[in-house]
Formats: sequence, structure tokens, C-alpha cells
Amino acid sequence: MSKENEQEVELLTVHSRTDVEQVFHYSAGRYLNRFLTEMRDNAKIIGVKCPKCGIVYAPPKEVCDPCYTEMTEPVEVGPQGTIRNFTILRAPFVDPETGQAKPVPYAFGNVQLDGAGSLIQNYLLADDDSKLKVGARVEIEFQEERTGNMRDIKGFRLIE
Ligand SMILES: [Zn+2]
Repeated sequence: MSKENEQEVELLTVHSRTDVEQVFHYSAGRYLNRFLTEMRDNAKIIGVKCPKCGIVYAPPKEVCDPCYTEMTEPVEVGPQGTIRNFTILRAPFVDPETGQAKPVPYAFGNVQLDGAGSLIQNYLLADDDSKLKVGARVEIEFQEERTGNMRDIKGFRLIE
């Protein structure tokens, strides 16, 4: 198939419907609960710092990966950070969150927020995707109406 033909292919979606509803509710846990609450109520990112090795995780974890220490100290990170890796998606797909085709192209990547040792994934927002680079600076853009979940982050806006 030539490249020209690939662009003309109509993308179809397959829908299946079942009468079985599977709804899951589970506790966010004490650290993630605080993280989500601070995003929702104060548009802040609160990570957690390992008391032994000092790594700050955002989103938070209960136990530090390298030293297995229980995390105890909440720490505010961001709102700015650095792009560590990313991709630009150009192939349309059905967004499982909405059931609708996700408009393309869009950028998605991992950002290390200032003060954090871990990475956080989300959309990268830029007027011109060609300006997105590993090492570029970004700032969190929150949704105007937040509900206490990871989608409260609209994305990371490129600082130009
Ligand atoms: Zn540690």
C-alpha cells in the first residue's frame, strides 16, 4: 500500500455492547488521596519525599523504589518542569476515556517537575509541535473544573 493510499483509508471503529457493567471503586490511598485533593482544590502538585535517600516522587508512592523506605514527607513540586521524553501521535485512535476519536496530531510525554525525582506523564501542549524538545521547559496547565483525578491536569504547556 502506498503512503498516499494509507492517508485515504477510512478508519473504522468496532463497537461492542454488553449488558455486563463493571464498575470499580477503590481507595486512592493516603498519599494519592492528598495528591488528588491538592490538585482539585488548590491546583498544586504534592509529591512525597523519601526520608532515607531524598528522592521526591510525584505522583507519590508509599514506598521508595531503590531503598524500600516508607515515604513520610509531603513536598510541593512544580508547577514548572522539564520534558524528559515524548512522542507526537499522528495516527488516530479511539480515546478509551471518551469513546470518541482523539484529534491528531498531539504530543504526549514524561515531564520531571521541578523538585521531583520521578516523571509524570501527560499531554504536551504547544502551538507548534516542532518546538517540543527533550530538555524544553513546560508548566502545568490544569483544567478549570477539577474533580480529583489525573485528568485534572490538562497537560504541560511549553514555555517559550
Ligand atoms: Zn529512598
